[in-house]
Amino acid sequence: VVDRLRSETDGRVPFSVEFSPPRDAAAEARLWRAVREFETMRPAFVSMTYGAGGSTRDRTVRVTGQLAQETTLLPVAHLTAVSHSVEELRAMVGAYADCGIRNILVLRGDPPGDPLGEWQRHPQGVEYADELVRLVRDLGDFHVGVASFPEGHYRSPDLEHDTKFLVAKLRAGAEYSITQMFFDIEHYLRLRDRVAAFDAEQGAKPIIPEIMPITSLKSVRKMVELSGSALPTELEQRLAKAAGDGPDENRAAVREVGIEAASQLGERLIAEGAPGLHFITLNFARATSEVLANLGLGAARV
Ligand code: FAD
Repeated sequence: VVDRLRSETDGRVPFSVEFSPPRDAAAEARLWRAVREFETMRPAFVSMTYGAGGSTRDRTVRVTGQLAQETTLLPVAHLTAVSHSVEELRAMVGAYADCGIRNILVLRGDPPGDPLGEWQRHPQGVEYADELVRLVRDLGDFHVGVASFPEGHYRSPDLEHDTKFLVAKLRAGAEYSITQMFFDIEHYLRLRDRVAAFDAEQGAKPIIPEIMPITSLKSVRKMVELSGSALPTELEQRLAKAAGDGPDENRAAVREVGIEAASQLGERLIAEGAPGLHFITLNFARATSEVLANLGLGAARV
């Protein structure tokens, strides 16, 4: 991933996209339509999230393996520690390696059922993501990334604690981090400064900002609640105005505001020297490709 971020030579900032494991055959067909569309835009990498508690494990491994074997894309497999023993985690990494995946985004995950509920370590599992980083690195030649939280992780008592344990994951061998979504660039800039001030060497590792192009007010409110990110009042008001008062939100108007906001955020991140832009796609290509077009990214290269 880090090589890909650095090897972009045409002066454009690299971008990447996040997919989620499909739940059924129809969702899988939709995912593949998005995959093929993004493939023409040459993202630096694509990532595949890991279902809570490994709920869609077999399908996730199969589809991520197909990304490695049947496309020109570089897949990054997310892996969480939830409900897994160390032995199972090793087997998962082995299954990814067997289908040619060498890039893993290591996460602790959230408790199944109630993501905001009490975290329960598997009796033979790991407690924090830094242990999983070491475990994956010890298993072989894997390139590991981790999560970072511009507004602090919701379980962190303060930003100092949050920075300390992000740096611990980087020191354990992670080569980069991908942030939680955020809507105010100041959070990203402050995170970057905090990590650099805490440990200059780890601060030099790429912090890839995650962008969520909003297409529904209802679903972004839910996502924000679970992510610990704040939707700035001014943006929320614009989205609410666009959504209207009817029983169904005016999705086209919400989308327009969401795409404009994501494009502006992307533009500012590029100006601030972000190493790449990572987009949450929800397995749809359209919203992200509109943002990419606004930013002059993603068009086929000559
Ligand atoms: P950790 O780094 O372990 O941190 C968890 C909390 O513990 C933090 O508050 C941290 O500060 C604290 N902490 C860490 N180490 C210590 C220590 N040694 N002592 C005391 N406190 C400590 N979830 C999924 O289920 N599937 C996914 O695919 C997925 N993908 C994600 C992708 C990105 C880019 C991001 C940002 C999040 C993703 N998540 C995913 C959500 C993630 O699993 C949750 O946010 C989870 O609550 C935190 O995971 P972590 O890896 O940051 O945990």
